[in-house]
Amino acid sequence: MINVSISACCLVFLTIITFVYYSKKRIKNVDNKIFSFLIVLNLVGTYIDINGFFMFRTFDENFILNILTSKIYLIYFILYIFILAIYVYNLSYKNINKLIRYFIGIIGIIFLIIFLLPINVNMKENVAYSYGPSVNLGYVCVFTLLALIIIMLVLNIKNIISKKYMPIFAFIFLTLGAFTIQKINPEINLLLLCNSVVTFLMFFTIENPDVKLINQLNIAKDAAEKANMAKTEFLSNMSHEIRTPLNAIVGFSECMLPSTDLNEIKGFATDIVDASHNLLEIVNGILDISKIEANKMEVIPKEYNPREVFNSLCKLVRPRIKEKPIDFKVTISPDLPGILKGDMGKVKQVVLNILTNAAKYTDKGEIEFNITCVNRQDTKKCLLYIAVKDTGRGIKKENLEKLFNKFERIDEDKNTTIEGTGLGLAITKSLTEMMGGKITVNSKFGEGSTFRIYLEQEIISMEIPENTGEEIEIDYSTHNGKRILIVDDSKINLKVANQILKPYNFNVKLIESGYEALELMESQTFDLILMDIMMPKMNGVETLRRLKKMEGFDIPVVALTADAIEGTDEKYLNAGFDGYLSKPIDRYELDRTLKKFLGGNKNE
Ligand code: ADP
Repeated sequence: MINVSISACCLVFLTIITFVYYSKKRIKNVDNKIFSFLIVLNLVGTYIDINGFFMFRTFDENFILNILTSKIYLIYFILYIFILAIYVYNLSYKNINKLIRYFIGIIGIIFLIIFLLPINVNMKENVAYSYGPSVNLGYVCVFTLLALIIIMLVLNIKNIISKKYMPIFAFIFLTLGAFTIQKINPEINLLLLCNSVVTFLMFFTIENPDVKLINQLNIAKDAAEKANMAKTEFLSNMSHEIRTPLNAIVGFSECMLPSTDLNEIKGFATDIVDASHNLLEIVNGILDISKIEANKMEVIPKEYNPREVFNSLCKLVRPRIKEKPIDFKVTISPDLPGILKGDMGKVKQVVLNILTNAAKYTDKGEIEFNITCVNRQDTKKCLLYIAVKDTGRGIKKENLEKLFNKFERIDEDKNTTIEGTGLGLAITKSLTEMMGGKITVNSKFGEGSTFRIYLEQEIISMEIPENTGEEIEIDYSTHNGKRILIVDDSKINLKVANQILKPYNFNVKLIESGYEALELMESQTFDLILMDIMMPKMNGVETLRRLKKMEGFDIPVVALTADAIEGTDEKYLNAGFDGYLSKPIDRYELDRTLKKFLGGNKNE
């Protein structure tokens, strides 16, 4: 044991440090937990030491409590180095879970042996020290642990420059020094002082709670800065992507204005439509990726007819192939159930993405679109296998991993003529996984690629409904002369809606506010109302509420909205609307809605 006045000093400082350490706000990690244990252990050890001193002075050297105190002190000392060894292991390997269980067992047995072996205690003036078999075994343990610490340091020689190891070096040198001094003069025992000095060093350097907290804040700051940079990069990417089709729209429109050549005007109009669709795709992509990243995307299962969905996707993709010499082959397994339940919108989106990519990145040859399934009648589950195989440019092996990263476009130089954001596959992967599915890709550079999507859907009915979407040629003559009211505060939107409805030969009335709609209802009646949701002063929901209060009002009202939030259709149906159309209005969606409310296909 140590000179009592030094022990008393250690006790005072350790008490202060323990108090300060535990009263400070600390971050919680493994290093901290080990260090907090080390502080308390050191404090307890110092207390045992001082207690032992007074006991040795008061009682006979061979008094049982003196022997016991000496053994407990020895155990404390080994435990301190053991905990320090765990600390070094954690610094070096960042994983102590397995090791701890292993070593605690061994050290427990050693402590038991130390307890059973005899110990001799000697008391000389102010200094008490012990020796004998128990102490010898203690020395063996201490040197073994020190050797282990040194081995760990040597194995991690590269990291040793790190400030984190400095107090450990101090500990090794001090302890070895203290042992040498004790060997020469057994009455001078500085080991407890070494432990306390190392605990002080650690507290004021690597384990200082304030410094740790600042480090943590710095890490958070760096992460925030990185996120900010990613956002700036996202914005600059997006402004470029958005401006490109916008530029085409503005440019072609300006070219169109002075032109009197009908063919030329038609050509410009086609380019404007293409650029607009591209712009819409980009905006939808940005909205989707932001919703996915903000965890705002939900899976909303609904019943749907898969044949209708896949056939409508083929219709969307065919114009993309245009005049390229590509054979587009579609096979839908006859086992495919008639009605499935799942998030139809997302299924459509993911499949459309891989289909459009095949169309975009294939110049000639074949695109095969195969839908097969495994139906489990017992669980009413259908495992869909959707494969899109193309004979396009293919993807290099080293690029396959990057494929699903956002904003990652492969072979950018070749892509310059092909529109895209590099968001499609990132969204596809996230949505597929969100639905509990999987997407895989096989590709040979220069030969072609196969994208496969595996999705589990619920089987509602095996019976195939009559309308499978194979014939969606719009028949404009069905609703001749029907009266339609369109309410929208934007003149442009009114103009667009009016133009889309023109081929139907409706009797269309256009008005700009909910108030006008209420007024108009006093004197006129309509077969259908298409109502914008976001209108100043009185929005669509409020207008509908007031309309419904009018006596005898039973006109179907369809919400028109550019709202991109998930589950919007349900929201508007709950608000009392009879249907929902999202802007920009899709001709086929519109035709389905018209058929539903004006006759033609009441079952839909
Ligand atoms: P985008 O098509 O908008 O660039 P995607 O995320 O859909 O973004 O695709 C990322 C990249 O993967 C594309 O830029 C393209 O280089 C490559 N890619 C995707 N599908 C195919 C395919 N079928 N054949 C060859 N390359 C493809």
